[in-house]
Amino acid sequence: MKVPHIKTELPGPRAKSVIERDQRYSSPAYGRIYPLVVRQGHGMVIEDVDGNLFLDFTAGIAVASTGHSHPKVVAAIEEQARKFLHFCGSDFYYEPMAELVGKLCQLAPGAAAKKVFLTNSGTEAIEAAIKLARYATKRQHVIAFLGSFHGRTMGSLSLTASRASHRAHFGPFLPDVHHLPYGYCHRCPYHLTYGSCGIECVRFIEHTLFRQKVAPQEVAAIFVEPIQGEGGYVVPPPEYLVMLKDICARHGILLVADEIQTGFGRTGKMFACEHWAVEPDILCVAKGIASGLPLGAMIARSDLSTWTAGTHGSTFGGNPVACAAALATIALLEDGLVENAARVGGFLRDKLERLKASVPVISDVRGLGLMIGVELAKPDGEREPDPELRNRVIRKAFEKGLLLLGCGQSTVRFCPPLIVTEAEAEVAAELFGSALREVTPT
Ligand code: PLP
Repeated sequence: MKVPHIKTELPGPRAKSVIERDQRYSSPAYGRIYPLVVRQGHGMVIEDVDGNLFLDFTAGIAVASTGHSHPKVVAAIEEQARKFLHFCGSDFYYEPMAELVGKLCQLAPGAAAKKVFLTNSGTEAIEAAIKLARYATKRQHVIAFLGSFHGRTMGSLSLTASRASHRAHFGPFLPDVHHLPYGYCHRCPYHLTYGSCGIECVRFIEHTLFRQKVAPQEVAAIFVEPIQGEGGYVVPPPEYLVMLKDICARHGILLVADEIQTGFGRTGKMFACEHWAVEPDILCVAKGIASGLPLGAMIARSDLSTWTAGTHGSTFGGNPVACAAALATIALLEDGLVENAARVGGFLRDKLERLKASVPVISDVRGLGLMIGVELAKPDGEREPDPELRNRVIRKAFEKGLLLLGCGQSTVRFCPPLIVTEAEAEVAAELFGSALREVTPT
């Protein structure tokens, strides 16, 4: 059947009944985006409980890298599940974990030897990185960026600064975290223009922060997303990561790349840092690593991995079924999906850029590979963000059978599974364009 195919009002009757049951008992902290109730997913297609078919350009928030329920990933999960489900990788050994940590060391950017700590989620990978950075450097201060999202547990939340509501009433946070503006050229926090700005967003660290607030010898790490995810799919200028790495190298500070959203092929390379040939000291990954099974990893240079047995651990981290899913996922990524992300990503970006030329509320189209953001703004010449319009277009796209997500203040993100074809990208761009025209006031 042609996809998308919407045959009921949304939500349909079965979806309504599930939502009612869910809402009675589930925590109000969940921020459901639209009333989608999933029955099953295969490849690029999500079927809801009323039989409506959606084209998925969310990948379950940049997770289903190989598409939904890829047969090879499912087979790897089944095979491992028949052997054993759990045996605590922090305390014992098993083959899928040994194989996966070796593979991650081989894939992580840079020639230096590395060591891996496996977790169940992105936030846990960041927690591990905060602890190791402090442990290895014996320093306490940390630099992070406004607009960043590193997770929601207390350590990672102390670094997260993409929405004030994520942090409200949860303090006090970790002390000695310094947030600086990110390299967001479309809305330069210093009101400068790329080309003549001297990359002030990085230079500020040495000429102001280190002189006036904290000595570099006290800074353990700079945590950075190579492309900001939740903050708005913000691609920094090409010098950005290289300059951060240089500051770190000169002051003995660790560069921690949060590639939880950008990693595993999403940007058209295995890791986004590779676009700028930057080798982080610590790499944090999760999301797309195992096609949807809960897994994350902190990959650190061996010489930093000075912590001793028992200093960190996890009951479930590195679960054997999740490791098997990750190995199958990585094999598929290496077998062409990373290249597909680069190729189809370029195609989709081109389509969206053409749309920008004809739709005045699109203020920016940006991204690498299949991590593409379309920023919307009021057509007032001032580029004022328009979050209501963004939310309306996402809802309208849902009604048309296209699943999209927002990020940042006013950005629509396109982060489909990496198996997406050009034909599907074309359908998505067309549906998005028609949804946008329908919700834009004339
Ligand atoms: N870091 C980044 C860049 C993310 O995008 C996310 C989640 O969106 C996280 C960390 C937290 O990951 P998790 O939700 O798996 O804890």
